[in-house]
Amino acid sequence: MTTLLAGGRCIDPASGNDAIADVLVDDGVITAIGADLEDLGSVPPHTRTIDCSGQLVTPGLIDMHVHVMPGLGDFCVEADDVGVDMGVPLLIDGGTSGVATFDLARAAVVDHPKTRTDILCFIDPNQLYLATKDFICHKLELANDERNIDIEALEASMERNADVIVGMKVRACHTGDPEHSPFLAAAQASSGGKPIMVHLGRFPHTPTISTPTLLEALRPGDIITHAFRGAGGMLDSDGKVIPEFVEAVDRGVRLDVGHSGTDFRFRDARKLFAQGYFPDTISTDLNIFNVGGPVFSLAETMTKILHLGVDLVDVIAMCTSNTAQVIGRADTYGSLAVGRRANISVLAIESDPIEVSDGHETVTAQEWFRPVGCMAAGTWYPSQLTPASAAA
Ligand SMILES: [Zn+2]
Repeated sequence: MTTLLAGGRCIDPASGNDAIADVLVDDGVITAIGADLEDLGSVPPHTRTIDCSGQLVTPGLIDMHVHVMPGLGDFCVEADDVGVDMGVPLLIDGGTSGVATFDLARAAVVDHPKTRTDILCFIDPNQLYLATKDFICHKLELANDERNIDIEALEASMERNADVIVGMKVRACHTGDPEHSPFLAAAQASSGGKPIMVHLGRFPHTPTISTPTLLEALRPGDIITHAFRGAGGMLDSDGKVIPEFVEAVDRGVRLDVGHSGTDFRFRDARKLFAQGYFPDTISTDLNIFNVGGPVFSLAETMTKILHLGVDLVDVIAMCTSNTAQVIGRADTYGSLAVGRRANISVLAIESDPIEVSDGHETVTAQEWFRPVGCMAAGTWYPSQLTPASAAA
């Protein structure tokens, strides 16, 4: 079965290619990219053609922070609802599960034959961790109990699930010494070179190490999610970035949007952008609390970053090539190139202004991304998404 994505603007930030071209997909693999493939006789008969003229054809979008393990607690959304059906063929679960439940979550969601979206995961290094609406692991203080760490079990799980675990999501709680998080220490000792994703600032019920201490502990390649909310403590009272933040970014710590309900603020993003701090990656933190707004989708989150003045191609890179590199999967994901698995997104840029909100501030975006569809493992999925803000 061959499919031709015809006549779109093909943007591949990894190679710098950006041109009107056709993309031919055969048996789930990209077999040709170029102008007028049909005229050149490169397209076999009975090929399905999808007209992409006037649209963007990009590497498959990657949402690096979502919660998509429904049935494991009550916090998650269905993967395909926010994945292939919204034009996003690869999702990364942001530490919904700890070690003890991971294999079951994997079987029930990641590997389940009904799941059409590719899913990779950050695992929480605790034995018992479960993202729930009421923060149960923080409420019961499991998230700051050292008995919850079992290094042997953690490392065995990392090894057993190496094909789907891209890193660890660490809640940097402490157990009395506010300068030291045993959970972060355990994760760093067992990460095997994979990145650790953290957020700066507090969790309900359990104490966390301070933002400067956490920033100093992060290694090159580690990831700060929710990086564009001032409440994380990266900005001082004058709105300037603190020295520990500057040093962390200088040594290669990555900045991720992780929008969530209250964890992205236009106000704070403007301050950080003005000081030269832009996202490496755009993600949503989609979960039950924010999928109905203010986040809605990865596409709408991209619209917000575009609105703040980031160049279109850079916005695409922030959820394709950059993300693939940050999670160590650039060999498989994040590039539109011949010989690659056909993991492709198609987006339209609409130019009728719409209002978008960060949950606190509403702005009028002059242009916005509308997901048209995506291709995952060679199958085309038209997008089901009408942004709620656009439909309103
Ligand atoms: Zn999250």
